[in-house]
Amino acid sequence: MDSPALHEALHRLAANHRWTWAPSCRQLLFSLPGAAPTRHPVSVVSDLTSEQLDDLLGDGAFVESVSVEISDLDAVLADPVTPEIAYCSPEFGIDALVPQYAGGLGVLAGDHLKAASDRRLPLAGVGLFYRHGYFDQVIADGGQAEHYPTVDPVQLGAIDTGVVVSVPLPGRDVDARVWRIDVGRIPLLLLDTNLEANSEHDRGITDRLYGGDRHHRLDQEMVLGVGGARALASLGWLTPVHHLNEGHAGFIALELIDRVIEGGDLDAAIEQIRPGLVFTTHTPVPAGIDCFHRDLMIPYLEPWAERWAAPVEKLSALGHDPGDDSHFNMAALALRLASHANGVSKLHGEVSRGLFAGMGIGDQVTSITNGVHARTWVLPQIQSVFDDALGPEWADGDPAAWDRVSKIEDDRLAAIRYGASARLGELISARTGRALDPDALVIGFARRFAPYKRATLLLRDPDRLRHLLDDTTRPVHFVFAGKAHPQDDMGKALIAEVVGFSWSPAANERFTFLPGYDMESAGVLVAGADIWLNNPIRPREASGTSGEKAALNGGLNCSILDGWWAEMYDGANGWAISSSDEDDQELRDEAEATSVFDTLGSILEMYHGDRPSFHGRIRHAWRTLGPRVTAARMVRDYTTEVYDPALARTRS
Ligand SMILES: *Cc1c(COP(=O)(O)O)cnc(C)c1O
Repeated sequence: MDSPALHEALHRLAANHRWTWAPSCRQLLFSLPGAAPTRHPVSVVSDLTSEQLDDLLGDGAFVESVSVEISDLDAVLADPVTPEIAYCSPEFGIDALVPQYAGGLGVLAGDHLKAASDRRLPLAGVGLFYRHGYFDQVIADGGQAEHYPTVDPVQLGAIDTGVVVSVPLPGRDVDARVWRIDVGRIPLLLLDTNLEANSEHDRGITDRLYGGDRHHRLDQEMVLGVGGARALASLGWLTPVHHLNEGHAGFIALELIDRVIEGGDLDAAIEQIRPGLVFTTHTPVPAGIDCFHRDLMIPYLEPWAERWAAPVEKLSALGHDPGDDSHFNMAALALRLASHANGVSKLHGEVSRGLFAGMGIGDQVTSITNGVHARTWVLPQIQSVFDDALGPEWADGDPAAWDRVSKIEDDRLAAIRYGASARLGELISARTGRALDPDALVIGFARRFAPYKRATLLLRDPDRLRHLLDDTTRPVHFVFAGKAHPQDDMGKALIAEVVGFSWSPAANERFTFLPGYDMESAGVLVAGADIWLNNPIRPREASGTSGEKAALNGGLNCSILDGWWAEMYDGANGWAISSSDEDDQELRDEAEATSVFDTLGSILEMYHGDRPSFHGRIRHAWRTLGPRVTAARMVRDYTTEVYDPALARTRS
């Protein structure tokens, strides 16, 4: 290998995001000169000087690892196929260094692509490229402040496909460049309106994720849906199946209809696109569904109505919500046009059937429970132990592999947990200056600060909380993290309350708020916490996935029986917080807070008094949850229950 060949090889390894789930490749890239946890490897590799490359060439072991990684990458990329399934989402969480996600929906989408790559599915992702991503959270004056980074697509490995598509918006056409980000075998197409050809206003359409007003959001969703379909077609990928990850990309239907409509027969065109359109809903709360006021919506539908010589009312009726005449509802649109719809846990499926049947549009909602991508979310040291004791198939959720957990005996288990907490201790000390007592039971709580997630439930009973925090014989440390949507004042007030408590004397330096929740700190936190706490108002947590990440790392869930936990808790693989059926929210919060404290009391007793039983519970959790919480299982379910039938429908 000569110096240009080495440079080229390193660039290939950095630009394909397979490194986000190949620990050896990640380690290699992050050992390069100039590397830092906050720098995308593509930018590090671009800056390598010829002297540095020559030095690296002189290191035989290094060159050998590069060759090994390249052949692993080539094996992943072998036998390329044309995508048949387009997975459309407003956000994708591939890694903290690719800031194109806000939270759970995006992280799920990223995990879906990675598991699809592992499974060699003919799938492509479709989304938007946001120049300023979501936001970085800083804590200032006791509350959340937002900082928007500016990202250069090239510096994070995006490749310019050369394709520019045009999207009709009221009174003008807007251009969008199509970037491609490689996620193993999976191409992720991201549309970007920041082009000279567009007006200043339109250049800003893809500026921020979930920023701006309704108008702005509507512009974004038109670019995502219509532009997404055009991007796929321009690359020659006439994907027969389109999967809407939440309703945001629903306008893809406009372009798909446009391709098949003949003589203005809208109903016939809808029946033609229906077999290939599938939809996953992610919220059981009507207020969580994206909708646009009719007056705002009509001008966006008019160009299509004109093209098809159809009354615009007929188009706007596609998004009609019988409970709210004034809005165009994106879930209603998706449900009316798709041939399949599912929720993201069994309980959420049930709730969705009720919700949408009430709207008169969908009682055919099934469910596929969310999972997490094991090789992304399990700490590398724990992955090695699993590979050794269980065999590498553990990461695909193979039950036979997980049945071997008894091979991980108490000593090794204690070492795994110690290492994971120590890593969390380093992060806490770096970000807050606080220390984590190695003897403490670490209780983690990290999620979006939406009121239904009740981040402040424990603070309702300060005396009981203080009693836990002051107990020197059974030490505990709570670690909280999470962002509030920038326009959610209630969520921000909750953050301020948690931050305020964490710095009060009552917190005894054993209740810490970790600022800047992102995929990187999430990875450290879900692995380092011994107990993962979750106390939403049931049944508003559609699935939740952070608890699944914790479970794989040997953290035990202590949760209300909502989302994924409602179907996977078996009485011994974690703990259930009992939920109250009180109608009065105050009384309900009080009853459920009492249950949280009671449960934490028994957990602390077991942890500090009977560690073998605690370890037994971890092994039991691994055995029962390992086969069920992975994205490998989830994507397998999507393949057999959704993609294969949809592909068959589109062929007949
Ligand atoms: C996993 C993850 C989430 C989603 O977790 P929930 O349990 O659904 O709240 C959100 N944000 C980040 C950064 C994550 O890694």
